[in-house]
Amino acid sequence: MTVRAVGLVLVRGAKGFGGLPPAVPCGGAIYWRAPPFGQNKWLCHKVGRGSGRVKGVGARDQFARQQPRDVAWAARPLLMSPNQGSAHAPPNPPWKELGGKPDQAGGFALVYYSDNLSRLPVRFVTKPGDNKADPNLETLTFGLFSTCNRSLRSSAVTRGYPYLFFITRRGATRVLSGYYHVRWYTEGVFRGMKDFALAADEARFLDPPIEVNDVDRQCGTRLRKWFRSYRLLSPDECVTLLKFVRRRPDATAAYLSEMDRLEHLNQHYGGSRYISWKQSDKFSWRFAGAYLKTISASSSKDRVLNASPTNTWKCQNCGSRIRNKALLKRCPDCGELGSLRAVKG
Ligand SMILES: [Zn+2]
Repeated sequence: MTVRAVGLVLVRGAKGFGGLPPAVPCGGAIYWRAPPFGQNKWLCHKVGRGSGRVKGVGARDQFARQQPRDVAWAARPLLMSPNQGSAHAPPNPPWKELGGKPDQAGGFALVYYSDNLSRLPVRFVTKPGDNKADPNLETLTFGLFSTCNRSLRSSAVTRGYPYLFFITRRGATRVLSGYYHVRWYTEGVFRGMKDFALAADEARFLDPPIEVNDVDRQCGTRLRKWFRSYRLLSPDECVTLLKFVRRRPDATAAYLSEMDRLEHLNQHYGGSRYISWKQSDKFSWRFAGAYLKTISASSSKDRVLNASPTNTWKCQNCGSRIRNKALLKRCPDCGELGSLRAVKG
């Protein structure tokens, strides 16, 4: 038997998360034990105060998809959108299993922009004119709400590689902040670009994040060697990195709280949680419906430029002109998916 998927874990007594709301009702850690071959039930061990164990049995999907909700609820009970039973969350359609061979589970180290107004390396929520939606810890997705790192997402689907290790710049160095285990994918709105969205069934983010030099020293990897966008990781490298990250407590709840705080800054100074695309809702599976339900109706099959020399985009549906550095999946004015095209000047 293998122990797998520690997922989003709250540690009892982890008070405050460095200035964040101290009243986090923590629930202990949740561990999963893989079923014997041929069975589809997973054993859940909830490790609470004093390491007492509560055993439960259930279908893995039900439990796994509830973990981010539990953590988010614990962090900010009043701010979370209800995700329970959302028809938009995997394993429901249009999500499909990534597949791939368990003994050849490779992955990627990928670089994302993190927020310089935050102690933790959360995605760059406040980036002027280019607010970032990924990695989207609220839904454990990557590329559902944004167009970033498209070729990585396409490669993950083609290879059946589930692991994403997130790297970002902090000060003069790069750090490893966490990982996803991707289990599902779906076609994105720009089909002509091989645009896929990825969804994870496990994640862990670290406080503090670890400098890549330290990671390399302990894991024998070469993450400190500069790369742009992403780098392929072998299955062996992924196993080593996974062990390295899983030895540390999970701080995803603190990341969620921090993103919420930064979104409030955007709201206060710019009128929306995401000023660039006029989004006032928190990310949630309910919100994700707007990005999933009309994909088949409106998908573009032509090749779309994902950079605009003028940082301006025109909606083919409503004619609006949108200013944003990155291509957006959805028109902020009419809500149409895949309708923006670069204005070349
Ligand atoms: Zn429009």
